[in-house]
Amino acid sequence: MKEKKKIYLSSPTMHGDEQRLVQEAFDTNWVAPLGPNVNAFEKEIADYSGCGYAAALSAGTAALHLAAILAGVKENDVVFASSLTFSASVNPACYEKALPVFIDSETDTWNMDPEALRRAFEKYPHPAAVIAVHLYGTPAKIDEISEICREHGVPLIEDAAESLGSTLGGRMTGTFGDFGVYSFNGNKIITSSGGGMLLSKDAAVVERARFLATQARDPARHYQHSVIGYNYRMSNVVAGIGRGQLLHLEEHKARKQEIYRQYREAFADIPEISMNPLNPHGEANNWLSCMTIAPGCAVTPNQVMDALEKENIESRPIWKPMHLQPVFADCDFIQVREGMSVAEDIFNRGFCLPSDIKNTAEDMDLIISIVRRQFGK
Ligand SMILES: *Cc1c(COP(=O)(O)O)cnc(C)c1O
Repeated sequence: MKEKKKIYLSSPTMHGDEQRLVQEAFDTNWVAPLGPNVNAFEKEIADYSGCGYAAALSAGTAALHLAAILAGVKENDVVFASSLTFSASVNPACYEKALPVFIDSETDTWNMDPEALRRAFEKYPHPAAVIAVHLYGTPAKIDEISEICREHGVPLIEDAAESLGSTLGGRMTGTFGDFGVYSFNGNKIITSSGGGMLLSKDAAVVERARFLATQARDPARHYQHSVIGYNYRMSNVVAGIGRGQLLHLEEHKARKQEIYRQYREAFADIPEISMNPLNPHGEANNWLSCMTIAPGCAVTPNQVMDALEKENIESRPIWKPMHLQPVFADCDFIQVREGMSVAEDIFNRGFCLPSDIKNTAEDMDLIISIVRRQFGK
């Protein structure tokens, strides 16, 4: 029997420009770390985002780590972080031995609830940083969040790993915080095969990030070090792939948005299904389309994911909230209302639909018909 075609959640889509830029790197022997692709990629991302300055790094996680260091996060400092996110949002602050306090989501965008953030400040007046994410590409209420951070004089680290190209009020996500982070990991909206970028409006901050990312070598001929350094820079080959992908970001975004619209229309007659929220004040890149099932409905996310898996179609649970993770069992969690948190409720009732931009019309029809069948349609 012929193996069923695999349909992916979100896999790399290459166009040819990537290979051309990698070839250039080989032709000029700029294979080793840094080089013209790295410089150009930083400038292109800075220009695209309108942020000012960017440092190309080996991963989004590395960018989040340097952001935590540059924000001054130290041992036993409290940091506030979105609970509903991927663990890489929070782990880097823990490398510095910070104590995360997790903040619940609001239902409008699934992201950090500004009201819960205000409550957190009442309980812990002096956190070292706030780490807020734009989940699945939907812009958070980041203007409110950044205003609260400003009121308290606390640096905001904006984890825009999933939201490259998403905007709020016409402004790119990743540019609201004191530090912005993008990821070019394999399943993100564009990929360099692996890599990340740290953004700041402050040239000196980005210069310091580059310094820390290249082993923190003091300006002396001999190898001298006054602080602990890291090997976090992006290679010139990797940057070539990233530059080639950036040429196609708008195309990827349009296709992701189209996938979201298709799902929304296809499930519009099933009242038990809701699509993940968008932010009416912004534009989402719709990195992953997600759905939730109404409370009380007999159909479970696992049942739908199993049905898809049987047809060799990839889907994924919603990120399990950080405050429910064994590794963070001792951490505090701040929510607005008593009872089940918003983050846990989304986790229980939701999952991520296949959102690969290479999905054909037939692929989409197949996915949609399998999901609909679970609801008796
Ligand atoms: C992917 C991701 C990261 C980590 O980025 P890497 O480039 O894989 O290190 C961080 N935060 C969020 C929310 C992510 O989705």
